[in-house]
Amino acid sequence: MKLLAWALLIFAVIWVLRSKAKARQKAARDFEAARPDAPMHTEADAEVMVICRECGVHFPVSEAVRDASGRHSFCSIEHRQQYLGH
Ligand SMILES: [Zn+2]
Repeated sequence: MKLLAWALLIFAVIWVLRSKAKARQKAARDFEAARPDAPMHTEADAEVMVICRECGVHFPVSEAVRDASGRHSFCSIEHRQQYLGH
């Protein structure tokens, strides 16, 4: 009879631990599910800005014209040619 009481106690402890682990897993899943939205907003709001080597104007990196090495950024092909012609 004492053995049965221990078995019930152990079963109860395992059951409590498992339900706690499940709750933790669910919280982690909810956190993961909420994450993908966050970086997309910050990326759209803050595009990296670069400076034209020729005239010094700031513009988004997606509109940059690069020289052959890719190290310098320019606002236009004309300014790249002027800079490289120096
Ligand atoms: Zn320029």
